[in-house]
Amino acid sequence: MQPILALNAFDMDQATALGGTLEARLLQRQKLFGAASVLFYERPLEFVRGEGCWLYDTEGVAYLDAYNNVPSVGHCHPQVVEAAARQLGQLNIHNRYLHPGILAYAERLLATLPTALSNVTFTCTGSESNDLALRLARHFTGAEGIIVTETAYHGNTALATEASPSSFKQGGPPPHVRVIPAPGGHSGGEKGLAEYFAEQVAGAIADLERLGMRAGALLIDSIFSSDGIYADPPGFLSQAIDVVHRAKGLFIADEVQPGFGRSGTCWWGFQRHGVQPDIVTMGKPMGNGFPMGAVVTRPEILAAFCDQVGYFNTYGGSPVAAAVGLAVLDVIEQEDLMDNALRVGDYLKQRLVELSKRHEVIGDVRGAGLFIGVELIQQRNGTPAPQLAKSIINGLRDRQVLIGAAGRFGSVLKIRPPLCISVAQADQLVAALDDALSAAH
Ligand code: PMP
Repeated sequence: MQPILALNAFDMDQATALGGTLEARLLQRQKLFGAASVLFYERPLEFVRGEGCWLYDTEGVAYLDAYNNVPSVGHCHPQVVEAAARQLGQLNIHNRYLHPGILAYAERLLATLPTALSNVTFTCTGSESNDLALRLARHFTGAEGIIVTETAYHGNTALATEASPSSFKQGGPPPHVRVIPAPGGHSGGEKGLAEYFAEQVAGAIADLERLGMRAGALLIDSIFSSDGIYADPPGFLSQAIDVVHRAKGLFIADEVQPGFGRSGTCWWGFQRHGVQPDIVTMGKPMGNGFPMGAVVTRPEILAAFCDQVGYFNTYGGSPVAAAVGLAVLDVIEQEDLMDNALRVGDYLKQRLVELSKRHEVIGDVRGAGLFIGVELIQQRNGTPAPQLAKSIINGLRDRQVLIGAAGRFGSVLKIRPPLCISVAQADQLVAALDDALSAAH
């Protein structure tokens, strides 16, 4: 398996071939950041400005951003920028003092979630949120076992990395982390996907028991982003959640990707499945570029942890975070972005399905709202086509459209634009993809 970040990574050996300012920049970066420096594309990009779904490079060329889910209400949205600037100029401090902003934000945020999930803890990133969620689950259940899907990514802390099979270049997660196939492993046979997925979870619980452990948490990204995007049929998660609950484990819904309306019909991805998580984690789009994250759970789960350890996050829940978070929620509502995600997402999906009739290398088009996966396959035998995916991603970059890749083999084009994308921009994306596909095969 290829780590997700490596799918579209620039190869530093090619730096000298690029020449000029680009080469100089690449070498400077390599010198400063060393082995951890990763850049996208065969010809890396440098941006200087963003607005809506557009990113502008140093020459003023506009790129259509269909990759970045962080600026979910649009790059540099003026309402969010103004809220951040105003609050930064007035007060910014950690949240061990009273502040009305964070209370207002907590109430607005919790109102989007099931009523049983009534406590929120603020963090700064999705990784911190998942790290805390896993610790909460371990304390509450007394069980260390964690179940995740095979190409999942849940973050960069030690604990979140252990629970992120896609992060391992060698080896894999430790024995207490059991890895189950993503929903794409279902052959489509007689057994429904819900039953198949529940069986995988039951198998992982049995494995843990054989190793003398119990399942503390099933940690699932409810749209399976890095696994290759599996949204349908709605409800297929519910049997698996029942299985983990019967084993006294908790269900953690990682909403870093699908959260804040991306799937088009609801605030949170888990709501499409009609399931009730014990813990919800969130991040990225929450602050539209300002680092914000949160863990939402039932009071007794948080209390069990705080009795023994407690949690403090210096920047989590600051007055600036609250102002930004409120502005993001306002924009989602005022600009009907959830509805736009549904409308433009459905339109885009339908146009991609049409494209698949002309390009046999498109094996599947799937997703919900503005999170769409296009599976590329080898024309000869229908097997995954990661090299083609890579060339299409670079071909789109040359046509000023940004997308990414996902899935076990890196063969799924990941399309995930800001929620404000227009029909005309969706058309631009499809035309560029059509062109890139025609050029590549
Ligand atoms: N969970 C999921 C599903 C993610 O996709 C990511 C980031 N790609 C994270 C958690 C971690 O978020 P962050 O990078 O903000 O720490």
